Amino acid sequence: MFADVAFPIRSFQTFTYSIPNEHASNIYIGTRVSVPFRNKAIQGIVVNIKKNNSYLGPIKKIIEPVDKVQVITLPLWDLIRWVSKYYMTPIGKVANSVVPKSLSSNFQPQLEKHVKAKKNNNLDTVIKLKKTAPKQFLVYKIISEKDIAHKVSSFKNIVSNPLQICISLKDKGLIKLINKIKLPDINQSVFEPVFKDIVFNRDQTIVINKISLALKKNNFNSFLLHGVTGSGKTEIYIEVVRNCLAQKKTAIVLLPEISLTPQIAGRFRAVFGDVVAIWHSKLKSSQRSWTWGKICTGDFKIVIGARSAIFSPLKNVGLIIVDEEQESSFYQDSKEPRYHARDVALMRGSFEKSTVLVASATPSLESYYNFQQKKIEYLRLPKRYGVAKYPKVHIVDMLSNQEETGKFDQVISGLLQDKIEEKLNKKEQIILIQNRRGFSPTVKCNDCGAHVMCSQCKVALTYHKNNNKLVCHFCSFSIVNDKLVCQECRNSKLIYSGTGTQKVEQLIQQTFPKSKICRLDMDTSKSSMGITSVLKSFSNQEFDILIGTQMVAKGLDFPNATLVGIINADLGLYLPDFRATEKVFQLIYQASGRAGRSTKKGEVVIQTYSPNSSVIKNAKNLNIAKFYENELVDREELNYPPYSWLAKVEFVGPNQPSLLSLIEKFKHNLKGIYTGLDVLGPAPCFLEKLKNNYRFQLVFKSKKQIDPNGIYLHKFIRKNFKNYNNKKLLGQNKINIYFDPISLI
Ligand code: ADP
Ligand code: ZN
Repeated sequence: MFADVAFPIRSFQTFTYSIPNEHASNIYIGTRVSVPFRNKAIQGIVVNIKKNNSYLGPIKKIIEPVDKVQVITLPLWDLIRWVSKYYMTPIGKVANSVVPKSLSSNFQPQLEKHVKAKKNNNLDTVIKLKKTAPKQFLVYKIISEKDIAHKVSSFKNIVSNPLQICISLKDKGLIKLINKIKLPDINQSVFEPVFKDIVFNRDQTIVINKISLALKKNNFNSFLLHGVTGSGKTEIYIEVVRNCLAQKKTAIVLLPEISLTPQIAGRFRAVFGDVVAIWHSKLKSSQRSWTWGKICTGDFKIVIGARSAIFSPLKNVGLIIVDEEQESSFYQDSKEPRYHARDVALMRGSFEKSTVLVASATPSLESYYNFQQKKIEYLRLPKRYGVAKYPKVHIVDMLSNQEETGKFDQVISGLLQDKIEEKLNKKEQIILIQNRRGFSPTVKCNDCGAHVMCSQCKVALTYHKNNNKLVCHFCSFSIVNDKLVCQECRNSKLIYSGTGTQKVEQLIQQTFPKSKICRLDMDTSKSSMGITSVLKSFSNQEFDILIGTQMVAKGLDFPNATLVGIINADLGLYLPDFRATEKVFQLIYQASGRAGRSTKKGEVVIQTYSPNSSVIKNAKNLNIAKFYENELVDREELNYPPYSWLAKVEFVGPNQPSLLSLIEKFKHNLKGIYTGLDVLGPAPCFLEKLKNNYRFQLVFKSKKQIDPNGIYLHKFIRKNFKNYNNKKLLGQNKINIYFDPISLI
């Protein structure tokens, strides 16, 4: 027998190996195998098994399968193939992101030596010990005091050689030495379990019944759960996961933001205990390997995590939940495969014959449209749970506010300041959102007005006060702020303008010196521990005010937080992207959802320079129907999703003329253009230059009326860009293809 093996490389090519007899029964399609390749043993994945081999060259043998258990089940393999085909990515690369080379199902955690006293010890031996070996006696005394296993290393503060001493004690028959598995601390990034008395209301019961019925059918079913913030969506997830487990099936819960994982995972752990695995990019490598191994062996039944959790090697997946399905973080755009985890979830559901629940308080226009087109079943939770009321929303017109007060560049309006004071006096908590990190997002010359730019990117540098540096948020380039002069006119007087989270923090601390403030953004949350500890402390009311970027706007549940302030609601509103208004609406609506989630009434203050914009108004009134109505009209007029399928082809390279001639070549040779297809560009990307590379894009829009399933567009792109990774053709340039991109900037 022979196997075709794929590797995580750019090309779509596979290589044929023979299967040795002794491994024949353990090698299937989807098995990871170790094979010889250019005199090295490397890891690949079996994509095909065949009896005969047509390749005439010498054939090498597979060395052995990598895993002892079957990792890739048939539905998961089907998913890998689908991702490879749909997103035009070589299968070896897709396989490597599903079953990364670095992860092994055979992972063995380290062992740690423990000791325990034996019962009924000979008193004489102990007394003798006291005289002859006082150190051993000391250690023995501690060990024998409690009937528990002590870590050998825990004695290193009293003796210098704890292991030797314990071995002597063992040799004397006084204690037992035990090897215990050293578990990576998987609980450190999880909130303490919260136990709650849950009584479902009528709306919730209807939703649960519908989903549970679908679960019983063992068929692919998909639902859009549209529940206002605080309506109990998370409690519903827990209940339907319980039903799923009762049927001996497993479940995946995708969350958009790593900041949400600790709290929601804590709620799941309270109910399901040790069968809950947490999965996201900030796990330490031992936690990651251990978790993954246990998922493979079936010890975990529930995986909660970020987008890549959709590829968890769980078997018999019954239920997949995508929380806050509209979030752009579900789209992996930084590397191949470039995929949308919500769409992959729906596909995995169809291969696994499971129930898929996509949920949100602000569903994406695509999902909303799918419900209108009856492609997905719609479930609604129109009210907050219990007595929690919607917050009162105030809009502050910052422009007229400035005219009245004469204070320009004011960051905190009088109203917001008053409200903060009021809540502080009542010992209630406050969340302030500013969707820019750093201190000042732009630094410019007082004389000529030029911005201080990154030397590698066409991007303004952001001033970070804590380390006194100007930092590029795209390539991490940084320069120390001292003695900085304008790059254009050498003037040394610079103005630090705009507002980032650090500036908000400083201003609030100056205004309310007694208040306790914490901040959460990409700078403070380098690790999941960091995020968890900030959120835990805020939740335990150790802080009065939480300041953050969009990371704090969604999904979190702090019953004592009664005021949410949005410092600048307009950020992003005027970006040249078809999704700009949708994002602003969602941010405001979601942020409002953080206020007054329990018995205390909440308030929201939205500061804006565009108080008359319909987006801001609809968000203020929490009028989602009106927002969808307006937005759908605009999208249809401009032929954007959900009325069309979109593909973006990005050209990236260090030499502009060479890059442009490459694009022209592709554009000039486009074949098979059909009615209903719009070709836009080439145009410079919104970020024209990043990390010393120029960037241009071609955008393709295919009208759904003509191309209902997007098949025409896929065929077109596949035909015209089949050489997208051909090194000879590209030279130093690169082409990145995005299907259903989340944005065009
Ligand atoms: P969502 O995820 O929709 O924002 P949550 O599930 O966080 O809403 O619910 C909001 C709050 O109401 C939480 O504190 C939750 O525990 C509580 N809650 C929701 N449903 C119930 C229920 N049926 N019984 C008791 N408490 C509930
Ligand atoms: Zn840069």
